[in-house]
Amino acid sequence: HLYNMLQELRGNIRVFCRIRPMFHEEAKCTIDYIGSDGSLMVIDPAKPQNARKIFQFNKVFGPTATQDEVYRDTQDLIRSVMDGYNACIFAYGQTGSGKTHTMCGPSNRSNEDMGINYMALNDLFQISSIREDVKYQIRVQMVEVYNEQVRDLLILGSLTGLLILKYKSTLEIRSCSSNGGLSLPDASMHLVQSTADVLDLMKLGEKNRAFSSTAMNERSSRSHSMLTVHVHGDDISDSATRSCLHLVDLAGSERVDKSETTGDGLKEAQHVNKSLSCLGDVITALAQKNPHIPYRNSKLTQLLQNSLGGNAKILMFAHVSPEADSYGETISTLKFAQRAS
Ligand code: ADP
Ligand code: MG
Repeated sequence: HLYNMLQELRGNIRVFCRIRPMFHEEAKCTIDYIGSDGSLMVIDPAKPQNARKIFQFNKVFGPTATQDEVYRDTQDLIRSVMDGYNACIFAYGQTGSGKTHTMCGPSNRSNEDMGINYMALNDLFQISSIREDVKYQIRVQMVEVYNEQVRDLLILGSLTGLLILKYKSTLEIRSCSSNGGLSLPDASMHLVQSTADVLDLMKLGEKNRAFSSTAMNERSSRSHSMLTVHVHGDDISDSATRSCLHLVDLAGSERVDKSETTGDGLKEAQHVNKSLSCLGDVITALAQKNPHIPYRNSKLTQLLQNSLGGNAKILMFAHVSPEADSYGETISTLKFAQRAS
């Protein structure tokens, strides 16, 4: 509850920056200084005569920050979902900057390296088991937005070909106020009771996502994937809360070189650029308490419409790669994120 009070003072949008480790130790680094107050100083090592650029966020995690440290600063937001608040966490950044690492963990993950998705559900289960006054039901959906189409990533048996016919391949976004503003009624919904259930579903989601990427190459960097957690809490005094937590691993924010891109690649890039800029517009409008929030301009923001407004809590992770050759993308990521905060 202290968190909720602090949030009211600070607004509902927070931006964290996370810098992943260098891949090559001998490479030049663009990160000049990380302040404990959330400031970050960046320099272009190729043009050191240029001035350093300073950015300010709610917090900056350096290359040595662990998954646990990152989660510790995310936990309050996750826990507020159990009190009926909607929350969205976004991982933004160029491909290779660590978005999936933050949300899911490294590909060879062990239990200590689990990302926010897993840690969040683990936390929700723990709270649910402690609170005897409220009976919670936790259900999840996982979808991907690719080329402005929404697909279910938790279709069981999608690889067998037969079962897949039972599901629509692309989903309609509809708002149904009757069930608490659920906006994807056709995506499969899975009741989860333990972290083992969650791990099974995450594996299925990753498999379904990887399956489509063999046909369209590198699909994961051109699509947004979204894990939605629906929490229903029934109080002993018969009052009920319904809330949603969206955990979004966004498509890579890099600008695709126009001269090299044609056909499908160009279309993918245009869809990604458009939806990311729409997301930026929505978050900026929310931050400025603008009466008109432009949700309708992309599938991603339409999907989130029911849970971004009001007293929803939003956390954006701006991921950057520290290498000199990522300098241009790093600056554009930091500018995007600064605009949101
Ligand atoms: P993205 O999803 O943004 O394309 P990834 O999360 O796949 O990027 O990260 C690219 C690579 O860098 C992966 O091998 C990942 O495990 C590694 N990596 C990213 N962030 C970190 C980090 N904070 N610590 C250690 N390794 C990281
Ligand atoms: Mg990724």
